[in-house]
Amino acid sequence: MDVHDALRAICSTNEGYCWYCDRKLPAAEEAISTGWEVKRIEGERVASIILICPGCRRLKAELGEEGLLRNLSELTSRIPF
Ligand SMILES: [Zn+2]
Repeated sequence: MDVHDALRAICSTNEGYCWYCDRKLPAAEEAISTGWEVKRIEGERVASIILICPGCRRLKAELGEEGLLRNLSELTSRIPF
């Protein structure tokens, strides 16, 4: 999957939000330049696509997925919108 194409496609629906903090996906070019991540999650029946904003991406790299989820409520208050 091409991340840039995926971001453009999701932006065109105007319904992209960060999986973790619900930050809204900005315009495609901004999302690409600021480093939004697109991930494909294989579900039992269908695969879904999730978005990760640059802030959560950085925290996930620091804390790991579990740490990020555990601290999510605190983190979302720290991330500037
Ligand atoms: Zn986020």
